[in-house]
Amino acid sequence: MSQDKLTVGLENFHPTELNCSCGCGKTTSDKLAIILQAFVYYLEAYYSSEIKIIITGGARCKRKHTAVSGDPEDTSYHMGATRLDEGPGVAVDCYFKVLEIVDGRAVWSVIPKANVATLARRFGLFKGIGYRSYPASWRMVHLDIGGGRERNW
Ligand SMILES: [Zn+2]
Ligand SMILES: [Zn+2]
Repeated sequence: MSQDKLTVGLENFHPTELNCSCGCGKTTSDKLAIILQAFVYYLEAYYSSEIKIIITGGARCKRKHTAVSGDPEDTSYHMGATRLDEGPGVAVDCYFKVLEIVDGRAVWSVIPKANVATLARRFGLFKGIGYRSYPASWRMVHLDIGGGRERNW
């Protein structure tokens, strides 16, 4: 897999923001990056406003994923399409903010994760959409384009 083949510019984030945070250089698939950018446009259309995406997790090498999950046998679409540390990751953890006018002032408000998940299902290009099993204080939604049928949790 080429490390840097996405040549089209993305408007709301840079593809390297989806790289493994351990610094190993593992990337996330161009397809996920493009779908994620399209989802930002979808949210902008839905809210008729500007949207910010905050990426909290992208690709994970085996070492990084073990550190996150605590289980060396655990696998994830963050590690690649086969859930193993092969090829680029196909999952992202992120949350979104929408620009709202409150009392005449522009305010960036976090979009509740349940709303993001509902809209992600309606959007239709993600295979895995997760948020319910994460602590209530976490803002993020997990989105992936892994194989099989649609999974929601
Ligand atoms: Zn890594
Ligand atoms: Zn995730």
